[in-house]
Amino acid sequence: RPDAKPEDGRAPQQDGPPATRMAVGPLLSVVVPCYNEEQSLPETLRRLLCACETVCGEDFEIILVDDGSRDMTWPMIARMARDVPQVVAIRLARNHGHQLALSAGLDLARGARIFIIDADLQDPPELLGPMMARMDQGVDVVYGRRVARRGETAFKRGTAAGFYRLLNHMVDVPIPADTGDFRLMSRRALDHLLSMPERHRFIRGMVAWIGLRQEPFDYIREERFAGQTHYPLRKMLSLAIDAITGFSVKPLRMASYLGLVAAAGAVILLAYTLISWAFFTTVSGWASVMMTMLFIGAAQLLVLGVIGEYLGRMFMEAKGRPLYIIDHVERFPAASEPLVA
Ligand code: UDP
Ligand code: MG
Repeated sequence: RPDAKPEDGRAPQQDGPPATRMAVGPLLSVVVPCYNEEQSLPETLRRLLCACETVCGEDFEIILVDDGSRDMTWPMIARMARDVPQVVAIRLARNHGHQLALSAGLDLARGARIFIIDADLQDPPELLGPMMARMDQGVDVVYGRRVARRGETAFKRGTAAGFYRLLNHMVDVPIPADTGDFRLMSRRALDHLLSMPERHRFIRGMVAWIGLRQEPFDYIREERFAGQTHYPLRKMLSLAIDAITGFSVKPLRMASYLGLVAAAGAVILLAYTLISWAFFTTVSGWASVMMTMLFIGAAQLLVLGVIGEYLGRMFMEAKGRPLYIIDHVERFPAASEPLVA
């Protein structure tokens, strides 16, 4: 089993020291964020259980996190937890979003290795075996890389590709393109991830930031088993802004550059204005005045917006609220030791 303690010696802030979790933890923890997934869940659990049993026998746990669903997801996973010893069901107090639901599950995971997978079967659970084999070679993070995506619109694929290109242009640590959160992580990689307290989380980027030995694992992303994506354009945009502002201050620098360009333009226009005022009688010029005003106004708003993004994030971080609230944890009745203190 991989080393439990982070190299920098800092204990993770959540859920006690890693050593205690290690002592009782299973070989594998699977974390599945679920939001309105009642149609997929039975099949997801069936395939997951099958894959885990093949690889780990009985020594695993599956943590199903209900992210404040409004359908039958919670009763369904609570029931699964009561029926299957390896399944733990967690209900968040409200919808916190994919990345925070995932964080809640990761906080509670006690396994020596951690497998992150979506509830909609877009990422095949059967890849667990090959990914475990890859990790046996001393890799800390085996992340899924999509070589093809089925059932996703050209628009989604196009925006995703453009986004990763833009992101990698801005950040110092390369964040692999065409990946999601589907991955297998070692305990020590997870402990490093859990030691990052930030609330605007872009988990795949945070994992890349850790470093250690990380390797891609190529796979074909399937169509959703049922239902619709919960990532409409609005949420994709918000995740993209979280990613950029979470990993780079380059937008602030670009704001300064924009200011420089505007200042240079202003100097030229100033000279032009003075000369025409001194040597020519001028009444025309309405168009240039309008254009200048509009340009300066827009540039100022843009720069203010960029500053505001960072300021707002500092405000949210400064409040230091918990990342999520757990409403309820359901697990197999025979299991004596409580999961949350
Ligand atoms: N999800 C979640 N909370 C949300 C939205 C999504 O827990 O607010 C879960 C969802 O149930 C799924 C995973 O996050 O297991 C990925 O979501 P989705 O499949 O909608 O995203 P896509 O695969 O289309 O990017
Ligand atoms: Mg999906």
